[in-house]
Amino acid sequence: MKLLLLAALVASVAGTPTIPQAAKAMYNPDLSEGDIKGIAGQEPGHERAAILGDQYLWSGGVVPYVFGSSVSSSEQSVILDGMADFHAKTCVRFQHRSGEADYIEIVTNDSGCWSYVGTIGGQQRVSLDTYGCIYIGTVIHELMHAIGFYHEHTRNDRDDYVVIDFSHVISGMESNFNKDTYWRYVGEDYNYASIMHYGTYAFSDNWGIDATIVPTDPNVILTEAYDKYEMAQSDANEINTLYSC
Ligand SMILES: [Zn+2]
Repeated sequence: MKLLLLAALVASVAGTPTIPQAAKAMYNPDLSEGDIKGIAGQEPGHERAAILGDQYLWSGGVVPYVFGSSVSSSEQSVILDGMADFHAKTCVRFQHRSGEADYIEIVTNDSGCWSYVGTIGGQQRVSLDTYGCIYIGTVIHELMHAIGFYHEHTRNDRDDYVVIDFSHVISGMESNFNKDTYWRYVGEDYNYASIMHYGTYAFSDNWGIDATIVPTDPNVILTEAYDKYEMAQSDANEINTLYSC
C-alpha cells in the first residue's frame, strides 16, 4: 500500500504519465480526430461522413503511390507489408504510380501519422512519421483513411458499444469524439477490433490509467492501431462493399 501511495505521488509529481510516441503521433491536436488532415470534397461543418460518396473513391480501386525521398528501405518494407494486407483481403490495389494524375505520396519526414479521407484529386500526402508511425497497424489505418474510411469509434451508432468518458479527455480535445453525422453504412456491425478503432486511452489526460473509450462489453479490451497487425475481417468486408467487389 505504501508502495502504491509512493508510486502515485511520484506519478503526480512527474505530471501526466507518458503517452507512447506511437499513440502521440496519432493524436495531432490540429487535425480532425487526431489523424485526419482533410476531407475530400466536403465543406467545413459537413466533414463527419464516415465514408464518402462514390466520387471520392479511387477509380477502379487502384491507388497509385510514390514514396517520398525520406522513406528508407526498411520503412518501405513495413509500408509494403501494410499494403499487402489490403491485397490479401480486398480488391483495392496499391500500385506504384506510372503517370496517374491522382496519387498518394507517402512520406516519413512530416509530423505525425495522418491522411486525408478519400481521394482529393492530384497528389495527396499520407504522413507516416519515422518517429511513431512505422508500424504495420498504423500503416493500414492511415491507408484506410486514404481510401475513404473514418474512425470506428465515431460511427453514428457507437453509443451502443462504447461510453466516452469526457471527464478524462484532454481539455480542448473533446471534438475528437464527435459522432459522424453524415455516414455511409457499408454492411458491417460495429467492431471493437477494427483497425479504425482507437484504444481505450485515446486523448486521455492520464494515459494508461484513466480510460476515455469504455466498451459497454466489460470483456472487451481496446487496443491502438499500432498494436494491431492486420485489418479486421469486417474492415475488409467494408472495403469490398465500398469498392463493389
Ligand atoms: Zn485515424
